[in-house]
Amino acid sequence: MSSNADLVALARRHLYPNYKPAPVAFVRGRGCELFDADGRRYLDLSAGIAVCSVGHAHPVHARAIAEQAASLMHVSNYFYNEPNIRLAGELCRRTGFDRAFFCNSGTEANEAALKLARHHFFARGEVERVRVVAFDNGFHGRTLGALAMTGTLKYREGFGPMGPVTHVRYGDAAAVERAMGPDVCAIIVEPLQGEGGIVAAPDGFLSALRAIADAHGALLIVDEVQTGVGRLGTFLAIQGPGQPRADVVTLAKGLGGGFPIGAMLTTERLAGALPPGTHGSTFGGNALACASVLAVLAILDDEGLVDGARTKGEALGQMLDALVRDVPGVCEGTRGRGLLRGLVLRPGFVARDVLVRLQDSRVLLTAAGERVLRFAPALVVTPAELEEGVRTLRASLSQLVPAAATA
Ligand code: PLP
Repeated sequence: MSSNADLVALARRHLYPNYKPAPVAFVRGRGCELFDADGRRYLDLSAGIAVCSVGHAHPVHARAIAEQAASLMHVSNYFYNEPNIRLAGELCRRTGFDRAFFCNSGTEANEAALKLARHHFFARGEVERVRVVAFDNGFHGRTLGALAMTGTLKYREGFGPMGPVTHVRYGDAAAVERAMGPDVCAIIVEPLQGEGGIVAAPDGFLSALRAIADAHGALLIVDEVQTGVGRLGTFLAIQGPGQPRADVVTLAKGLGGGFPIGAMLTTERLAGALPPGTHGSTFGGNALACASVLAVLAILDDEGLVDGARTKGEALGQMLDALVRDVPGVCEGTRGRGLLRGLVLRPGFVARDVLVRLQDSRVLLTAAGERVLRFAPALVVTPAELEEGVRTLRASLSQLVPAAATA
């Protein structure tokens, strides 16, 4: 077997350099543990950026994928396949939506939602309704439609021109109202901005968006690519008391637990918006991907992982609050819900620098913006693993205190 150094050298020669990975090549995992090619163990509290919802190599998940692969992987959307049909029913049952469209990623799910919004109005003769209202620091993906809706200039720069999108301040319902007009087909919003720094929507904001969308005849698209599939303690973030109903919800990341799949869920009213021939995906909803999701959903139920995300998330939040009290020179505060939590560093500290130090201590987190460390562990994470991660982070941050004093 190749060593870590051999693999990294080969990667640096041949992989397209649009990423800047750490010099670590993983070869296997189990739960929240990852092992590199030299056999070193890492504690993974990032879950592949909120993806591996049931942990690495969950035996039930792995067996379901293997059994489906040995039976039927793909037939194309010219035909039905059983896991796809069952999954559409399962997702609708869990969410109250009526229709599911499957694709392969979050960006594709949002692209589908954008096309659906435009085509819905096109079919009604309202051809001028093409503009979207979206939010500063929102993230919706990297294809050109999803990118246009993404609210961070650095991601969009150099890729224009893009479709018409107006970005306004997240949480500012009055700004949304001002941005509306007869040309707006949809408002797109994350219930909690993930990439934008783990920022939850203020109370009442999503309901205000619902009311504004209704008043202007536009659709409300809720991007739950990062927040959905139980991560915040309910299956969707917009489920539960006081939450508005969306016209469209998009999912990906945790849905397949590591197997690439995205979904767009819609109400029955929108079932005619994309008639046959208007949108599609060769791989979207294939039997293997859908079987993977069905296994994830069964594991979430059998192991009580959605409720667990709430209780373990609260415990994690308390541990992070304590960390802020213990290392006040470095930490500014905490944010988040369920098992999507952010530790905000004080100005002058850079999240990515902290991540590199943590990697040396064999704990994996990701950054969410410049100064936020993101905890998005697998929902199977144990309290002991969360404690181990926070303990290691505390040691790492404590070493930065003298730097803070001299800053
Ligand atoms: N939407 C949100 C809220 C996301 O967090 C992301 C990815 O981080 C995406 C969309 C894009 O998903 P993908 O990378 O699967 O295309």
